[in-house]
Amino acid sequence: MAAASDSFDVVVVGAGPAGGFAAGRIAKAGWRVALLEEHREIGEPVQCGGLVTPRVFDYVSCKETILGKVRGAEIFSPKGRAIRIDGQETKAVVVDRAMFDRAIVTDAIRAGAETFLGTQAQEATRVGGQVEVLAIRDGEPFRLRTRLLLGCDGVRSNVAKWFGILKPKKILPGFEIEMTGVESDPDFVQLFVGNRFAPGFFGWIIPSGDTARVGLCVGSGNAHAFLRTMLEEPHVMPFVRGAQPIVYIAGGIPLGFPRRSHADNVMVVGDAACQAKATSGGGIFTGLHCADLAARTAVQALEAGDVSAKFLHRYHKAWTKSIGKELRKDLAIHESFARLSDDQLEELFDLLGQPEILNLIERKGDIDFPSKVGWAILRKEPRLLKYTGKALRAMIAKTVGI
Ligand SMILES: Cc1cc2nc3c(=O)[nH]c(=O)nc-3n(C[C@H](O)[C@H](O)[C@H](O)COP(=O)(O)OP(=O)(O)OC[C@H]3O[C@@H](n4cnc5c(N)ncnc54)[C@H](O)[C@@H]3O)c2cc1C
Repeated sequence: MAAASDSFDVVVVGAGPAGGFAAGRIAKAGWRVALLEEHREIGEPVQCGGLVTPRVFDYVSCKETILGKVRGAEIFSPKGRAIRIDGQETKAVVVDRAMFDRAIVTDAIRAGAETFLGTQAQEATRVGGQVEVLAIRDGEPFRLRTRLLLGCDGVRSNVAKWFGILKPKKILPGFEIEMTGVESDPDFVQLFVGNRFAPGFFGWIIPSGDTARVGLCVGSGNAHAFLRTMLEEPHVMPFVRGAQPIVYIAGGIPLGFPRRSHADNVMVVGDAACQAKATSGGGIFTGLHCADLAARTAVQALEAGDVSAKFLHRYHKAWTKSIGKELRKDLAIHESFARLSDDQLEELFDLLGQPEILNLIERKGDIDFPSKVGWAILRKEPRLLKYTGKALRAMIAKTVGI
């Protein structure tokens, strides 16, 4: 176990996927890394549906955490009409999220990162060109010094706050219940839209091996109360009639596109930098992708002996140029569709349910890059433009030319 009052090249706050992965990458390059996690168990409490594309395994090698494979989705309108999208092959997998996080941190430890579990970062300040982190473990405060601080501390990031880097525009409240006895096809996820129970977002049933994760996010309000309403909807009830809860999960999805994700000596990554997709709330793939870019910049900065904001800007530039383009579009898509009434959602279902549109979604649908199929659908069915907001329309005009 690493000693307190120590000095590190990098201190990473938060051992979720973004923090664990970045810590491992930087340690592997030979730098001394401390990984701080306020909980005593990596991966707990779970705040996630665990649905990811197989693309995450380009970054992490923990396929043993896969609980099931998903090849499509059944989407239900507010009135309960269903559209079935069958990708015919594995489009996504469901992972045991706690085991997934543990596997990433285990790799980081093997690469040389030093973990501080049950350790909460309480404050961080710049002192003489470095950062001093005040942390507390077992009620004992102690300080760590570092050249570079990575804030991978999730949706309510304190690191981002302490250094005035960013604040999410909005945090969508979410609630999920892992249940046993759910009657659903394990090859498909169910998605439910409707303002009675999921205003501003949607609800879901994600099969997860012997159990299923039944949840939703909403634009605002009491997500747990909305979920209770959803479970009583006539088209949701048949799935959960005989089901019993095992675990309750609450969390939030950060929305916004930050102007910066760095400062002198500091970078923020993952949910802390609003890098989750506003269309689905998925943040594991995007967080890993951005953590990879942050780790590369960290290693370059340490090698160059320059941890200034000017140098670290290359991290911000890298992720905004790669996945950032998709995240901007996702935000505009979300903002357009979160405003629709139930009647408009029903009209949208009529357009999306046309066989040639369904076929397009089945062929081109990709939950990591939803705008790609979105743009293709708009080309085929321009009547959908009616439902898009100002920001999205401007993007469409620029990129699709309609
Ligand atoms: C209901 C719900 C369902 C979701 N379902 C999916 C899904 O199916 N697929 C998907 O891809 N994404 C999903 N997400 C999003 C996904 O969970 C996040 O995007 C992802 O966990 C972000 O990873 P991260 O490493 O940035 O942050 P986190 O996983 O949140 O990790 C941050 C870590 O920092 C620690 N921490 C915070 N503050 C401190 C501190 N001061 N000191 C020490 N440690 C600290 C926390 O304890 C935590 O372990 C869902 C989110 C919600 C709310």
